[in-house]
Parts: sequence; C-alpha cells; structure tokens
Amino acid sequence: MRGAATARKKYTAGRRKAKAGDRLPRQACIDIPAVYRKLFAAHGKQHWWPGDSAFEIMAGAVLTQNTAWTNVARAIANLKQAKVLSPEAIVGAQPKRLAAWLRPSGYFNIKAQRLRAMCRWLIERGGVKKLKKIPTSELRHALLAVHGIGPETADDILLYAFQRPVFVIDAYTRRIFTRLGLIEGSENYETLRHLFENALETDVAMFNEYHALIVAHGKNICRKRPMCGSCRLADDCPYSAVFMHASN
Ligand code: SF4
Repeated sequence: MRGAATARKKYTAGRRKAKAGDRLPRQACIDIPAVYRKLFAAHGKQHWWPGDSAFEIMAGAVLTQNTAWTNVARAIANLKQAKVLSPEAIVGAQPKRLAAWLRPSGYFNIKAQRLRAMCRWLIERGGVKKLKKIPTSELRHALLAVHGIGPETADDILLYAFQRPVFVIDAYTRRIFTRLGLIEGSENYETLRHLFENALETDVAMFNEYHALIVAHGKNICRKRPMCGSCRLADDCPYSAVFMHASN
C-alpha cells in the first residue's frame, strides 16, 4: 500500500512538472510523418472502420460520440437484429423503440435524435450513392449542417464511409501530439486538421490507418497516465523523461 502511495505521489509530482513544462517552448524531436511510421511499426494494421456498409459506418460515427466502440457495436447489433439498419427503417421507427435499441451506446435519446436527423438528411439527398458524387468540401459543409454532426463526426464519415482525404482530429490526437511537442493542444479543430493534412501526402488509406493508430496508441499506451516505458515514441518524446521518472 505504501509503495502504491509513493508511486502516486511521484506521479502527481511528475504531472506538475509536465504541466509546468507545457508552458515552456518545447522542442519537438520528431515530425508528423515519422510518428506515423513508428506507430505503424508498434501497432500494425488496424483494419478500420468496422462496418459492412457506408451507412453502417455513418451510423457508427454518430453513435461513437462520447462512448467506447464496444458499446456502439452492441447498439448496431440491436439495429441489425431488429432489421432496421437502414435510413428508411430508422426514420420510420417509433422514437422509444429506436432509443431502446441505441441504449448500450449511452446518451441514447440524444443519439436517437441525431441518428434520425442524419437518416432524414440522407434520404432527402438521395442516399449514399448520390452523395458519393459530391466534391469533398461541399459534402463536408452539408454534413456539418446536419443536427448533431460536428467536425470530428463529419470527418469520420468523410474518411471512412466516403474515402475522402480528410484527417480526423480527436482527443487522442491532441493528447499524444501535445506530449510530443508537435502542437500546443489548444488549437481549434480546423487548424489541427490543416496541420496534419499539409504535413502528409494526400493518401486516403494512410489517413485511415493513421487515425486508427492514434486511437490505438491513445487507448493502450499514451493514456491519461501514460505507459512511456512501453512506448515506441519514448526516444522522441519530451514528456517521456518526466513521466518515466514519475513512475519509477
Ligand atoms: S513517451 Fe509517453 S507521453 Fe510520450 S507519446 Fe509515448 S506514452 Fe505518450
């Protein structure tokens, strides 16, 4: 017990130092393309996005807001079992039944409204096939106008359902790249999206893999309490020394 308390104290002290360091100008030792290569070497191919159709990916992108994928998978399984995984069936479903199917994904009443809004929009616009013909910036603009779809969800949909070259920014991206000294972390969404898109070759398959690798790394290694001792980026990360010291 005492050992655990000491480790906790050291960790807290390390975090204080890390926070103080955050305010100092930090020198990044690695660039955005090199981070991709190292993450790929560490985690391998991620096979994203799980889903049998563009519509299933779109529904998953709405349902994954603020929850883990395992919960989304359960909600999608419910929709499949009830044979309502289509825009028309979701729009036609009773609101209470739809919310019940979505219950495992959390915030199910809000998500039911959002999913229904996206389905209505899809129907109005003639479905996925018609939307595939729309240029990326126009499609992004249209998605952002749909109730409950913000930049991250819109970009998930553009990249994974429509194979468009947009880079998805999420909380894991902010955490990892702030620790690496490559961003401040407080930049707005569009600034970060452009930063990544400009630093990389325009390559849908690589954008797909890179975002999935960032999620894998943020979930398993660069957690809130990071596991720097197991991190392939540790030699290039200004934070690793602080965190490793804190956990020793
Ligand atoms: S070394 Fe630590 S802080 Fe840096 S990226 Fe890896 S896990 Fe995150």
